[in-house]
Amino acid sequence: MLNIILMGPPGAGKGTQATAIVDAFHLPHISTGDMFREAIAQGTPVGLKAKEIIAAGNLVPDEITIELVKERLSRPDCEHGYLLDGFPRTIPQAEALDKLGPEIGRPVSLVIDITVPEEELIRRIAGRRVCPSCGASYHVDSMKPAVEGICDRCGHELIQRKDDNAESFAVRLQNYYASTQPLVDYYKEQGLYHCFDGMVGKANLEKAINALLEEQGQ
Ligand code: AMP
Repeated sequence: MLNIILMGPPGAGKGTQATAIVDAFHLPHISTGDMFREAIAQGTPVGLKAKEIIAAGNLVPDEITIELVKERLSRPDCEHGYLLDGFPRTIPQAEALDKLGPEIGRPVSLVIDITVPEEELIRRIAGRRVCPSCGASYHVDSMKPAVEGICDRCGHELIQRKDDNAESFAVRLQNYYASTQPLVDYYKEQGLYHCFDGMVGKANLEKAINALLEEQGQ
């Protein structure tokens, strides 16, 4: 069973690889960032609470995030596997998932971590454009869509995320090192951790991840 966690710092290429993985392996793509952005757009109570926190680059409190994932992961479409993108991001979130997964018969089966040096993360985030409809990511110089400003995948207009500015990015990176990086050892101890070099290029990274998933999905 492919019950996958995709992790890595902001700008590592999680969103891009997530899109490729869910298309290739027909898995539901559970991005907590996308879920929060949707909640904000719809003005739900969760969206109202998360709006300022996300814009500043901080993490949404664990209780809110865990509840959101509990509900999503329990839906029928996750029965045959799932891809968690951007969750867990803290040790308490990972512990909650370790409890929930087995309870609902959907324990995590592997963790994919993408590593990229900090200078490159800064370059990627500064030029990033995203599709607010399907979540696909582009870059103004190095990953342009076929038609400027339009998503190749779904035709929606591309936007720059509010938290993709230098100030919020610095906070996000700091939070990543303080709260998310400890998950590396956490999942190494569980024997679930697989690390990938995010500098090998989009297609090569996709190939390397696919090889692992094909082997694990047997
Ligand atoms: P992302 O699209 O994954 O970069 O997430 C965007 C923002 O949503 C993050 O910077 C956080 O503010 C919030 N967020 C997403 N996932 C989580 C999570 N697992 N825990 C706390 N906050 C999150």
